[in-house]
Amino acid sequence: MSVRIGIGHDCHRLAIGNHLIIGGIEIPHDRAAVAHSDGDVLLHAVTDAILGALADGDLGDHFPDSDPAHAGRSSREMLLEVWDKARQSGWHLVNLDCTVMLERPKLGPLKARIREALAELLGASPDQISVKAKTAEGIGSIGREETVEACCVVLLRKGGEI
Ligand code: MG
Repeated sequence: MSVRIGIGHDCHRLAIGNHLIIGGIEIPHDRAAVAHSDGDVLLHAVTDAILGALADGDLGDHFPDSDPAHAGRSSREMLLEVWDKARQSGWHLVNLDCTVMLERPKLGPLKARIREALAELLGASPDQISVKAKTAEGIGSIGREETVEACCVVLLRKGGEI
């Protein structure tokens, strides 16, 4: 059996808007992520973590923002493309642990929905997925509601069981 670990991180600037998309869930809000794609900071971090585990570059290598074909692109589609390729090569998810850092709105009530959405996207069970949410207590760019960040760690296995 082989196991591989990958780390992912992403950050988006926030501007006046009407919703955020986090983990594929649309959250009504008075700000939106500034991004070339749909700005789903969590799915970008998860996609990068999978690519990291596979030592296969990063999101920008696979979906360059210089390519107009990726403008407004669904982050779900990009994650699925990367994950389908990993699965076709025999990789299975062991677990995924994520943290989203956002000052407002509080994500606590939405964590379960985001976790289920990630599990569905990855064809996994919710007990393989952890979604944590933090505010920055008013400190720094997250605290000033200028940015949203996400980080995660993924463990993949090929063959065997853990
Ligand atoms: Mg991003």
